[in-house]
Amino acid sequence: MALSLFNTLSLKVEPFTPSDGNTVRMYSCGPTVYNYAHIGNLRTFTFNDTLRRWLRYRGFVLNHVMNITDVEDKIIRKSMELGIPMGEYTSKYEKYFLEDMATMRFEKPEQIVRATEHIHEMVDLIETLQSKGFTYDSDGSVYYRISKFAEYGKLSHHDFSGIQAGARVDNDEYEKDNARDFVLWKARKGEEPYWDAPFGAGRPGWHIECSAMAMKYLGDTLDIHTGGVDLAFPHHENEIAQSEAASGKPFARFWVHCEHLHVDMQKMSKSIGNIFTLRDLVELGHTPEALRLLLMSVPYRKKLNFTLDSLKGSQTSIDRLRNYKLRLETAKLEEGTNEEISKLCDLALEKFEASMDDDLNTAEALAAIFEFVRETNSLLDEDRFLEGNRAPALELLARFDSVFDILKLTEVEGKLGDDAIEALIAERSSAKKTKQFARADEIRNQLLDAGIILEDTKDGVRWKRK
Ligand code: AMP
Ligand code: ZN
Repeated sequence: MALSLFNTLSLKVEPFTPSDGNTVRMYSCGPTVYNYAHIGNLRTFTFNDTLRRWLRYRGFVLNHVMNITDVEDKIIRKSMELGIPMGEYTSKYEKYFLEDMATMRFEKPEQIVRATEHIHEMVDLIETLQSKGFTYDSDGSVYYRISKFAEYGKLSHHDFSGIQAGARVDNDEYEKDNARDFVLWKARKGEEPYWDAPFGAGRPGWHIECSAMAMKYLGDTLDIHTGGVDLAFPHHENEIAQSEAASGKPFARFWVHCEHLHVDMQKMSKSIGNIFTLRDLVELGHTPEALRLLLMSVPYRKKLNFTLDSLKGSQTSIDRLRNYKLRLETAKLEEGTNEEISKLCDLALEKFEASMDDDLNTAEALAAIFEFVRETNSLLDEDRFLEGNRAPALELLARFDSVFDILKLTEVEGKLGDDAIEALIAERSSAKKTKQFARADEIRNQLLDAGIILEDTKDGVRWKRK
Protein backbone atom coordinates (compact mmCIF):
# COMPACT_ATOMS: atom_id res chain seq x y z
CA MET A 1 0.00 0.00 0.00
CA ALA A 2 1.10 3.52 -0.62
CA LEU A 3 0.64 6.63 1.47
CA SER A 4 -2.61 8.53 0.97
CA LEU A 5 -3.40 11.96 2.37
CA PHE A 6 -6.59 13.99 2.66
CA ASN A 7 -6.25 16.99 0.39
CA THR A 8 -8.28 20.04 1.45
CA LEU A 9 -8.20 21.20 -2.17
CA SER A 10 -10.05 18.16 -3.54
CA LEU A 11 -11.75 17.13 -0.25
CA LYS A 12 -10.54 13.59 -1.05
CA VAL A 13 -8.00 11.15 0.29
CA GLU A 14 -5.49 10.87 -2.57
CA PRO A 15 -2.41 8.68 -3.10
CA PHE A 16 0.71 10.74 -2.53
CA THR A 17 3.99 10.73 -4.45
CA PRO A 18 6.32 13.66 -5.01
CA SER A 19 6.09 15.27 -8.44
CA ASP A 20 9.80 15.20 -9.13
CA GLY A 21 11.85 12.12 -8.22
CA ASN A 22 12.13 11.06 -4.61
CA THR A 23 12.30 14.41 -2.85
CA VAL A 24 9.22 15.83 -1.13
CA ARG A 25 9.09 19.62 -1.24
CA MET A 26 7.01 20.56 1.78
CA TYR A 27 6.18 23.91 3.38
CA SER A 28 4.68 24.37 6.84
CA CYS A 29 3.40 27.63 8.26
CA GLY A 30 5.45 28.15 11.39
CA PRO A 31 4.85 30.04 14.61
CA THR A 32 4.10 33.71 15.10
CA VAL A 33 6.71 34.48 17.72
CA TYR A 34 4.87 36.85 20.04
CA ASN A 35 4.33 34.50 22.97
CA TYR A 36 5.07 30.95 24.12
CA ALA A 37 3.56 28.31 21.83
CA HIS A 38 0.53 26.67 23.48
CA ILE A 39 -0.22 22.96 23.26
CA GLY A 40 -2.78 23.63 20.50
CA ASN A 41 0.02 25.04 18.34
CA LEU A 42 2.08 22.03 19.36
CA ARG A 43 -0.61 19.69 18.08
CA THR A 44 -0.18 21.11 14.59
CA PHE A 45 3.62 20.96 14.85
CA THR A 46 3.41 17.37 16.15
CA PHE A 47 1.34 16.56 13.08
CA ASN A 48 4.02 18.13 10.84
CA ASP A 49 6.62 15.99 12.56
CA THR A 50 4.54 12.83 12.17
CA LEU A 51 4.07 13.51 8.47
CA ARG A 52 7.79 14.21 8.04
CA ARG A 53 8.77 11.05 9.81
CA TRP A 54 6.29 8.90 7.91
CA LEU A 55 7.47 10.27 4.56
CA ARG A 56 11.04 9.40 5.57
CA TYR A 57 9.95 5.96 6.78
CA ARG A 58 8.55 5.43 3.28
CA GLY A 59 11.93 6.22 1.77
CA PHE A 60 11.38 9.78 0.60
CA VAL A 61 13.96 12.52 1.03
CA LEU A 62 12.61 15.74 2.50
CA ASN A 63 13.13 19.33 1.65
CA HIS A 64 10.93 20.84 4.33
CA VAL A 65 10.72 24.58 4.89
CA MET A 66 9.10 26.22 7.91
CA ASN A 67 8.81 29.96 8.37
CA ILE A 68 9.01 32.05 11.49
CA THR A 69 6.56 34.96 11.41
CA ASP A 70 8.54 37.71 13.12
CA VAL A 71 6.65 40.76 11.81
CA GLU A 72 2.87 40.94 12.14
CA ASP A 73 0.08 42.96 13.82
CA LYS A 74 0.21 41.28 17.26
CA ILE A 75 4.00 41.32 17.38
CA ILE A 76 4.16 45.01 16.57
CA ARG A 77 1.47 45.88 19.10
CA LYS A 78 3.09 43.88 21.90
CA SER A 79 6.66 45.02 21.33
CA MET A 80 5.52 48.65 21.13
CA GLU A 81 3.53 48.29 24.35
CA LEU A 82 6.67 47.02 26.05
CA GLY A 83 8.83 49.64 24.36
CA ILE A 84 11.41 47.15 23.06
CA PRO A 85 12.69 46.72 19.49
CA MET A 86 10.67 44.20 17.51
CA GLY A 87 13.70 42.00 16.76
CA GLU A 88 14.64 41.77 20.43
CA TYR A 89 11.08 40.82 21.32
CA THR A 90 10.70 38.13 18.65
CA SER A 91 14.14 36.56 19.09
CA LYS A 92 13.25 35.70 22.68
CA TYR A 93 10.10 33.81 21.66
CA GLU A 94 11.79 32.25 18.66
CA LYS A 95 14.41 30.81 21.00
CA TYR A 96 11.70 29.43 23.32
CA PHE A 97 9.92 27.91 20.33
CA LEU A 98 13.06 26.17 19.06
CA GLU A 99 13.68 24.85 22.58
CA ASP A 100 10.13 23.50 22.71
CA MET A 101 10.62 21.86 19.31
CA ALA A 102 13.67 20.03 20.64
CA THR A 103 11.90 19.08 23.87
CA MET A 104 9.01 17.66 21.83
CA ARG A 105 11.57 15.68 19.79
CA PHE A 106 10.49 17.28 16.52
CA GLU A 107 12.85 16.66 13.65
CA LYS A 108 14.16 20.00 12.43
CA PRO A 109 12.84 21.06 9.03
CA GLU A 110 15.67 21.33 6.51
CA GLN A 111 15.20 25.09 6.44
CA ILE A 112 13.73 27.45 9.04
CA VAL A 113 13.35 30.92 7.55
CA ARG A 114 12.40 34.29 9.05
CA ALA A 115 9.96 36.70 7.42
CA THR A 116 12.06 39.79 8.21
CA GLU A 117 14.99 38.30 6.28
CA HIS A 118 12.89 37.99 3.10
CA ILE A 119 11.38 41.45 2.69
CA HIS A 120 13.21 41.81 -0.63
CA GLU A 121 11.58 38.65 -2.03
CA MET A 122 8.16 39.86 -0.84
CA VAL A 123 8.66 43.23 -2.52
CA ASP A 124 9.64 41.46 -5.77
CA LEU A 125 6.53 39.30 -5.61
CA ILE A 126 4.28 42.29 -4.97
CA GLU A 127 5.86 44.04 -7.98
CA THR A 128 5.12 41.00 -10.16
CA LEU A 129 1.50 41.06 -8.98
CA GLN A 130 1.36 44.78 -9.71
CA SER A 131 2.71 44.30 -13.22
CA LYS A 132 0.10 41.60 -13.88
CA GLY A 133 -2.73 43.83 -12.72
CA PHE A 134 -3.76 41.97 -9.56
CA THR A 135 -3.26 44.90 -7.19
CA TYR A 136 -4.26 48.48 -6.51
CA ASP A 137 -2.83 51.16 -4.27
CA SER A 138 -4.65 53.14 -1.65
CA ASP A 139 -3.12 55.65 0.77
CA GLY A 140 0.37 54.19 0.34
CA SER A 141 -0.77 50.59 0.93
CA VAL A 142 -1.02 47.90 -1.76
CA TYR A 143 -4.04 45.57 -1.90
CA TYR A 144 -4.76 42.33 -3.75
CA ARG A 145 -7.91 42.56 -5.85
CA ILE A 146 -9.50 39.16 -5.21
CA SER A 147 -12.14 39.54 -7.93
CA LYS A 148 -9.26 39.43 -10.43
CA PHE A 149 -8.34 35.86 -9.38
CA ALA A 150 -11.16 33.71 -10.75
CA GLU A 151 -10.35 30.73 -8.55
CA TYR A 152 -10.43 32.63 -5.26
CA GLY A 153 -12.25 30.35 -2.78
CA LYS A 154 -11.14 27.04 -4.27
CA LEU A 155 -9.35 25.91 -1.11
CA SER A 156 -11.98 26.94 1.43
CA HIS A 157 -14.76 25.81 -0.98
CA HIS A 158 -16.61 29.05 -0.56
CA ASP A 159 -18.28 31.12 -3.23
CA PHE A 160 -16.97 34.65 -2.98
CA SER A 161 -18.42 35.87 -6.27
CA GLY A 162 -21.00 38.05 -4.52
CA ILE A 163 -18.64 40.02 -2.33
CA GLN A 164 -18.51 43.74 -2.50
CA ALA A 165 -15.89 44.83 -5.05
CA GLY A 166 -13.28 47.25 -3.78
CA ALA A 167 -13.94 46.74 -0.03
CA ARG A 168 -10.67 45.99 1.71
CA VAL A 169 -9.21 44.74 4.93
CA ASP A 170 -5.96 45.64 6.65
CA ASN A 171 -6.11 43.03 9.42
CA ASP A 172 -3.99 39.94 8.98
CA GLU A 173 -6.75 37.64 10.24
CA TYR A 174 -10.49 37.66 9.42
CA GLU A 175 -13.42 35.32 8.86
CA LYS A 176 -14.79 33.98 5.56
CA ASP A 177 -17.89 36.13 5.88
CA ASN A 178 -15.65 39.14 6.06
CA ALA A 179 -13.64 38.40 2.90
CA ARG A 180 -12.29 41.52 1.26
CA ASP A 181 -9.37 42.60 -0.87
CA PHE A 182 -6.44 41.93 1.43
CA VAL A 183 -3.37 43.97 2.11
CA LEU A 184 0.00 43.02 0.58
CA TRP A 185 1.95 46.01 1.81
CA LYS A 186 0.90 48.32 4.65
CA ALA A 187 1.89 51.96 4.49
CA ARG A 188 4.22 53.14 7.25
CA LYS A 189 2.27 54.12 10.36
CA GLY A 190 3.57 56.15 13.31
CA GLU A 191 6.47 54.50 15.08
CA GLU A 192 5.87 51.06 13.59
CA PRO A 193 8.86 49.25 12.05
CA TYR A 194 9.10 49.81 8.29
CA TRP A 195 11.14 49.01 5.19
CA ASP A 196 11.61 51.10 2.05
CA ALA A 197 9.98 49.78 -1.11
CA PRO A 198 9.27 51.11 -4.62
CA PHE A 199 5.62 51.56 -3.63
CA GLY A 200 6.50 53.47 -0.45
CA ALA A 201 7.84 52.80 3.04
CA GLY A 202 5.88 50.25 5.03
CA ARG A 203 5.77 46.61 6.02
CA PRO A 204 4.39 43.43 4.47
CA GLY A 205 0.95 42.00 5.24
CA TRP A 206 1.10 38.53 6.79
CA HIS A 207 0.09 36.43 3.78
CA ILE A 208 2.79 37.46 1.33
CA GLU A 209 5.68 36.03 3.38
CA CYS A 210 4.68 32.38 2.93
CA SER A 211 4.18 32.74 -0.85
CA ALA A 212 7.54 34.48 -1.24
CA MET A 213 9.56 32.10 0.96
CA ALA A 214 7.91 28.88 -0.22
CA MET A 215 8.55 29.73 -3.88
CA LYS A 216 12.10 30.92 -3.20
CA TYR A 217 13.16 27.68 -1.50
CA LEU A 218 10.87 25.10 -3.11
CA GLY A 219 9.94 26.39 -6.57
CA ASP A 220 6.57 27.41 -8.03
CA THR A 221 4.72 24.17 -7.19
CA LEU A 222 5.15 22.47 -3.81
CA ASP A 223 4.27 18.86 -3.14
CA ILE A 224 2.70 19.52 0.27
CA HIS A 225 1.66 22.62 2.20
CA THR A 226 0.57 22.19 5.83
CA GLY A 227 -0.90 24.21 8.69
CA GLY A 228 -3.68 24.20 11.27
CA VAL A 229 -7.30 24.25 10.03
CA ASP A 230 -7.73 27.87 11.00
CA LEU A 231 -5.15 28.81 8.35
CA ALA A 232 -7.09 27.42 5.38
CA PHE A 233 -9.00 30.71 5.26
CA PRO A 234 -7.90 33.41 4.78
CA HIS A 235 -4.17 32.68 4.97
CA HIS A 236 -3.82 29.75 2.59
CA GLU A 237 -6.53 30.99 0.22
CA ASN A 238 -4.55 34.21 -0.04
CA GLU A 239 -1.26 32.37 -0.52
CA ILE A 240 -2.81 30.55 -3.49
CA ALA A 241 -4.15 33.80 -4.94
CA GLN A 242 -0.72 35.47 -4.64
CA SER A 243 1.43 32.59 -5.87
CA GLU A 244 -0.76 31.34 -8.70
CA ALA A 245 -1.43 34.83 -10.03
CA ALA A 246 2.33 35.46 -10.12
CA SER A 247 3.56 32.14 -11.54
CA GLY A 248 0.55 30.96 -13.53
CA LYS A 249 1.11 27.48 -12.01
CA PRO A 250 -0.59 25.51 -9.21
CA PHE A 251 1.01 26.52 -5.90
CA ALA A 252 0.71 23.28 -3.92
CA ARG A 253 -0.44 19.83 -4.99
CA PHE A 254 -1.53 18.74 -1.50
CA TRP A 255 -2.95 21.00 1.21
CA VAL A 256 -3.02 19.15 4.50
CA HIS A 257 -4.60 20.72 7.59
CA CYS A 258 -4.49 19.61 11.22
CA GLU A 259 -7.67 19.90 13.34
CA HIS A 260 -7.72 21.90 16.54
CA LEU A 261 -6.96 20.88 20.05
CA HIS A 262 -9.65 21.73 22.58
CA VAL A 263 -9.37 21.84 26.35
CA ASP A 264 -12.13 20.40 28.53
CA MET A 265 -14.41 20.50 25.47
CA GLN A 266 -13.85 24.22 25.02
CA LYS A 267 -11.73 26.11 22.58
CA MET A 268 -8.44 27.07 24.16
CA SER A 269 -8.52 30.77 24.78
CA LYS A 270 -6.90 33.33 27.00
CA SER A 271 -10.24 34.64 28.26
CA ILE A 272 -11.30 31.23 29.59
CA GLY A 273 -7.81 30.79 31.04
CA ASN A 274 -7.43 27.23 29.76
CA ILE A 275 -4.23 27.71 27.80
CA PHE A 276 -1.39 25.35 28.61
CA THR A 277 2.16 25.57 27.37
CA LEU A 278 4.60 22.68 27.29
CA ARG A 279 6.49 24.38 30.11
CA ASP A 280 3.32 24.55 32.27
CA LEU A 281 2.85 20.80 31.88
CA VAL A 282 6.49 19.95 32.62
CA GLU A 283 6.28 22.13 35.72
CA LEU A 284 3.24 20.12 36.83
CA GLY A 285 5.43 16.99 36.60
CA HIS A 286 4.32 15.69 33.21
CA THR A 287 6.78 14.53 30.59
CA PRO A 288 7.08 15.97 27.06
CA GLU A 289 6.80 12.47 25.64
CA ALA A 290 3.42 12.00 27.35
CA LEU A 291 2.20 15.12 25.55
CA ARG A 292 3.75 13.87 22.32
CA LEU A 293 1.92 10.55 22.57
CA LEU A 294 -1.36 12.19 23.56
CA LEU A 295 -1.20 14.55 20.59
CA MET A 296 -0.40 11.64 18.28
CA SER A 297 -3.02 9.30 19.70
CA VAL A 298 -5.89 10.95 17.80
CA PRO A 299 -5.70 11.14 13.98
CA TYR A 300 -4.85 14.66 12.87
CA ARG A 301 -8.20 15.33 11.16
CA LYS A 302 -10.24 14.67 14.30
CA LYS A 303 -10.75 17.20 17.07
CA LEU A 304 -8.79 16.29 20.16
CA ASN A 305 -9.99 17.20 23.63
CA PHE A 306 -7.14 17.71 26.07
CA THR A 307 -7.47 16.81 29.75
CA LEU A 308 -4.80 16.32 32.39
CA ASP A 309 -6.23 12.84 33.01
CA SER A 310 -5.68 11.84 29.40
CA LEU A 311 -2.11 13.08 29.72
CA LYS A 312 -1.63 10.79 32.72
CA GLY A 313 -3.13 7.96 30.67
CA SER A 314 -0.53 8.57 27.97
CA GLN A 315 2.26 8.34 30.52
CA THR A 316 0.86 5.00 31.72
CA SER A 317 0.89 3.75 28.12
CA ILE A 318 4.50 4.89 27.69
CA ASP A 319 5.54 3.17 30.93
CA ARG A 320 3.86 -0.03 29.75
CA LEU A 321 5.74 0.08 26.45
CA ARG A 322 9.06 0.86 28.12
CA ASN A 323 8.61 -1.99 30.59
CA TYR A 324 7.75 -4.34 27.76
CA LYS A 325 10.86 -3.29 25.81
CA LEU A 326 13.05 -3.82 28.86
CA ARG A 327 11.48 -7.19 29.40
CA LEU A 328 12.24 -8.14 25.80
CA GLU A 329 15.83 -6.97 26.18
CA THR A 330 16.52 -8.78 29.42
CA ALA A 331 14.27 -11.87 29.56
CA LYS A 332 15.97 -15.29 29.60
CA LEU A 333 14.43 -17.13 26.66
CA GLU A 334 14.62 -20.68 25.43
CA GLU A 335 16.15 -21.44 22.06
CA GLY A 336 13.95 -21.70 18.98
CA THR A 337 11.27 -19.60 17.31
CA ASN A 338 7.57 -19.64 18.07
CA GLU A 339 5.90 -19.38 14.66
CA GLU A 340 2.70 -18.08 16.21
CA ILE A 341 4.65 -15.06 17.54
CA SER A 342 6.43 -14.56 14.20
CA LYS A 343 3.01 -14.30 12.58
CA LEU A 344 1.73 -11.87 15.23
CA CYS A 345 4.82 -9.75 14.69
CA ASP A 346 4.39 -9.65 10.90
CA LEU A 347 0.72 -8.85 11.29
CA ALA A 348 1.39 -6.03 13.77
CA LEU A 349 3.93 -4.46 11.40
CA GLU A 350 1.56 -4.79 8.49
CA LYS A 351 -1.29 -3.16 10.44
CA PHE A 352 0.99 -0.43 11.76
CA GLU A 353 2.23 0.49 8.29
CA ALA A 354 -1.18 0.23 6.60
CA SER A 355 -2.71 2.49 9.27
CA MET A 356 -0.02 5.15 8.85
CA ASP A 357 -0.36 4.93 5.06
CA ASP A 358 -4.09 5.51 5.49
CA ASP A 359 -3.92 9.30 5.92
CA LEU A 360 -1.72 8.90 9.02
CA ASN A 361 -4.19 6.97 11.14
CA THR A 362 -2.03 7.12 14.24
CA ALA A 363 -4.80 5.72 16.49
CA GLU A 364 -4.98 2.47 14.53
CA ALA A 365 -1.19 2.30 14.26
CA LEU A 366 -0.89 2.57 18.05
CA ALA A 367 -3.62 -0.02 18.56
CA ALA A 368 -1.70 -2.52 16.40
CA ILE A 369 1.39 -2.15 18.59
CA PHE A 370 -0.52 -2.34 21.87
CA GLU A 371 -2.36 -5.44 20.71
CA PHE A 372 0.97 -7.11 19.96
CA VAL A 373 2.36 -6.10 23.36
CA ARG A 374 -0.69 -7.45 25.19
CA GLU A 375 -0.63 -10.76 23.34
CA THR A 376 3.10 -11.34 23.61
CA ASN A 377 3.28 -10.28 27.26
CA SER A 378 0.99 -13.23 28.03
CA LEU A 379 3.19 -15.50 25.92
CA LEU A 380 6.24 -14.27 27.82
CA ASP A 381 4.46 -15.11 31.10
CA GLU A 382 3.83 -18.61 29.79
CA ASP A 383 7.46 -19.08 28.62
CA ARG A 384 6.28 -19.51 25.05
CA PHE A 385 8.23 -16.51 23.76
CA LEU A 386 11.49 -17.88 22.34
CA GLU A 387 14.94 -16.50 21.58
CA GLY A 388 14.26 -16.33 17.82
CA ASN A 389 11.30 -14.02 18.46
CA ARG A 390 13.32 -11.47 20.40
CA ALA A 391 15.04 -9.58 17.56
CA PRO A 392 11.96 -9.22 15.30
CA ALA A 393 9.86 -7.98 18.24
CA LEU A 394 12.52 -5.41 19.15
CA GLU A 395 12.72 -4.40 15.48
CA LEU A 396 8.94 -3.83 15.46
CA LEU A 397 9.28 -1.53 18.48
CA ALA A 398 12.19 0.31 16.84
CA ARG A 399 10.14 0.93 13.69
CA PHE A 400 7.21 2.14 15.77
CA ASP A 401 9.51 4.44 17.74
CA SER A 402 11.15 5.88 14.63
CA VAL A 403 7.82 7.67 14.17
CA PHE A 404 6.31 7.95 17.65
CA ASP A 405 9.64 8.60 19.45
CA ILE A 406 8.42 8.09 23.01
CA LEU A 407 10.50 5.18 24.32
CA LYS A 408 13.68 6.90 25.45
CA LEU A 409 13.57 8.83 28.69
CA THR A 410 13.73 12.61 28.71
CA GLU A 411 16.54 14.19 30.64
CA VAL A 412 15.97 17.87 31.03
CA GLU A 413 19.26 19.44 29.97
CA GLY A 414 21.06 16.51 31.55
CA LYS A 415 19.56 17.49 34.90
CA LEU A 416 16.42 15.97 36.33
CA GLY A 417 13.94 18.22 38.10
CA ASP A 418 12.56 17.24 41.52
CA ASP A 419 9.22 16.12 40.08
CA ALA A 420 10.89 13.89 37.49
CA ILE A 421 13.08 12.36 40.22
CA GLU A 422 10.06 11.66 42.44
CA ALA A 423 8.23 10.13 39.47
CA LEU A 424 11.16 7.84 38.67
CA ILE A 425 11.47 6.80 42.32
CA ALA A 426 7.75 5.98 42.42
CA GLU A 427 8.13 3.97 39.22
CA ARG A 428 11.13 2.13 40.71
CA SER A 429 9.14 1.25 43.84
CA SER A 430 6.26 -0.15 41.83
CA ALA A 431 8.71 -2.04 39.58
CA LYS A 432 10.20 -3.64 42.70
CA LYS A 433 6.75 -4.53 44.00
CA THR A 434 5.88 -6.27 40.73
CA LYS A 435 9.29 -7.98 40.72
CA GLN A 436 10.57 -6.14 37.65
CA PHE A 437 14.02 -5.87 39.19
CA ALA A 438 15.83 -5.13 35.94
CA ARG A 439 13.65 -2.04 35.42
CA ALA A 440 14.16 -1.00 39.05
CA ASP A 441 17.95 -1.27 38.61
CA GLU A 442 17.80 0.62 35.34
CA ILE A 443 16.04 3.52 37.07
CA ARG A 444 18.56 3.51 39.94
CA ASN A 445 21.39 3.67 37.38
CA GLN A 446 19.71 6.38 35.39
CA LEU A 447 19.32 8.47 38.52
CA LEU A 448 22.93 7.77 39.45
CA ASP A 449 24.05 8.98 36.01
CA ALA A 450 22.09 12.18 36.65
CA GLY A 451 23.92 12.61 39.96
CA ILE A 452 21.06 11.44 42.18
CA ILE A 453 21.85 9.03 45.01
CA LEU A 454 19.09 6.83 46.43
CA GLU A 455 18.98 5.55 49.92
CA ASP A 456 16.48 2.81 50.82
CA THR A 457 15.41 3.41 54.43
CA LYS A 458 12.70 1.79 56.52
CA ASP A 459 10.62 4.94 56.01
CA GLY A 460 10.88 4.72 52.23
CA VAL A 461 13.31 6.04 49.68
CA ARG A 462 15.37 9.14 50.32
CA TRP A 463 17.36 10.88 47.63
CA LYS A 464 20.03 13.54 47.39
CA ARG A 465 22.09 15.21 44.68
CA LYS A 466 25.78 14.29 44.52
P1 AMP B 1 0.43 30.79 15.19
O1 AMP B 1 1.68 30.79 16.02
O2 AMP B 1 -0.73 31.46 15.85
O3 AMP B 1 0.69 31.34 13.81
O4 AMP B 1 0.00 29.27 15.02
C1 AMP B 1 0.89 28.24 14.72
C2 AMP B 1 0.13 27.03 14.23
O5 AMP B 1 -0.71 26.49 15.26
C3 AMP B 1 -0.77 27.29 13.04
O6 AMP B 1 -0.60 26.25 12.08
C4 AMP B 1 -2.17 27.26 13.64
O7 AMP B 1 -3.12 26.86 12.69
C5 AMP B 1 -2.01 26.22 14.73
N1 AMP B 1 -3.01 26.29 15.82
C6 AMP B 1 -3.45 27.38 16.49
N2 AMP B 1 -4.35 27.03 17.47
C7 AMP B 1 -4.48 25.68 17.42
C8 AMP B 1 -5.22 24.69 18.16
N3 AMP B 1 -6.02 25.03 19.19
N4 AMP B 1 -5.08 23.39 17.79
C9 AMP B 1 -4.26 23.02 16.77
N5 AMP B 1 -3.51 23.89 16.06
C10 AMP B 1 -3.61 25.20 16.36
ZN1 ZN C 1 1.89 30.71 6.19
